[in-house]
Amino acid sequence: MVEALAVASGKGGTGKTTATLALGMALADRYDVTVIDADTGMANLLFHAGLADVETTLHDVLLTEDPVPVGAATYERFGMRVVPCGTSLAGFEAADPGRLRDVVAELADDADVLLLDSPAALDSKQAVLPVVLADRVIVVVQPTVPALSDGLKVQEYAAAYGTDLAGVLFNRVREDEPVERIASKASRYFEGPTLGHVPEDDAARAARQAGEPLLAHAPGSPAARALDEAAAELDVRPGDGDRVADRFRSAVVPDRP
Ligand code: ADP
Ligand code: MG
Repeated sequence: MVEALAVASGKGGTGKTTATLALGMALADRYDVTVIDADTGMANLLFHAGLADVETTLHDVLLTEDPVPVGAATYERFGMRVVPCGTSLAGFEAADPGRLRDVVAELADDADVLLLDSPAALDSKQAVLPVVLADRVIVVVQPTVPALSDGLKVQEYAAAYGTDLAGVLFNRVREDEPVERIASKASRYFEGPTLGHVPEDDAARAARQAGEPLLAHAPGSPAARALDEAAAELDVRPGDGDRVADRFRSAVVPDRP
């Protein structure tokens, strides 16, 4: 039984990787969690998870020639299985992102929750692949009107591929922002619950610099607590693993709606 959740946004830098690892760690209390850096072009999960020095990454698994098995790029960290992706341009160019579907199918075999740290979905056609593959999507946005509009586009793409919204996570919320107004807009336009409001918090940056997920580095920080609560809001719906794997293997990335 598995549910694959894509953690996505319209643009980069919204906090997807921070959120992916935090949700993963929080859910790992109750579920077998695997986290994969599906942002193969702008990978940064390895820096957040203390894996910057590992030899083998998802890039080696996605190689067109002589790929390594995904197990060789899977690391047990912070109570989860973590599949980091390398950051070199050469690695990216030698990798076939289309192979991601087989890798995800294989990982789905052995997890209750599969979190796909996804690329900024509005960047390119390939970038939307994790959103197509996932059962549902978690959209991470800042609480501003332009960011909301980007988030709604992600919802639109996801819906066009039959992927529902698991929820919206507001990140980097500043005290001076009109959160109430944005939240009421969000509840009108997003077809899923608001999972939480994560404050702007220096602990997030400090955690990244320390190479640790926020929930390991500063579990008592306001941002970590908000992410923990967001994970509790998430109604995980593990489905049939074989069916999920079949869908990944057969998924075709259609043209943009
Ligand atoms: P993405 O994966 O969407 O590109 P990251 O999770 O890497 O985003 O976050 C981008 C940057 O913003 C990182 O330096 C991260 O530490 C910082 N950041 C993320 N969330 C917060 C937050 N709530 N408060 C302050 N900084 C944050
Ligand atoms: Mg990222």
